[in-house]
Amino acid sequence: MPSKDPHPLEMLAIHRYSWMNDANCKGMTKSMFPKEHKDITYIAEARALCEECKVSSECLEYALEFPPADLHGVWAAMTPRQLAAEQKRRGIKPVRPTLSQMWFA
Ligand code: SF4
Repeated sequence: MPSKDPHPLEMLAIHRYSWMNDANCKGMTKSMFPKEHKDITYIAEARALCEECKVSSECLEYALEFPPADLHGVWAAMTPRQLAAEQKRRGIKPVRPTLSQMWFA
């Protein structure tokens, strides 16, 4: 009979992203991303959610793992341009593959 225990790597992933359960934007995805191309009207509402969020530090570290070209919406009260500047300021090289690398690998 197969075990119902999660695989250790699955447990690691669950632990690593458990902060997302406490995100102020949980279930509010539409508030965090532009409704249309070049829409900036969502930013103020999204930042208001981030300012009250108790996992903004974890969120920022997560967002900084991604290549700037793949960043959309607001993460830890930052726009993609601000996140790219933060990566540059900290000397962070994104560890995540770009979307094109994942799709065309
Ligand atoms: S800081 Fe903002 S984007 Fe990040 S989890 Fe919290 S509400 Fe969501």
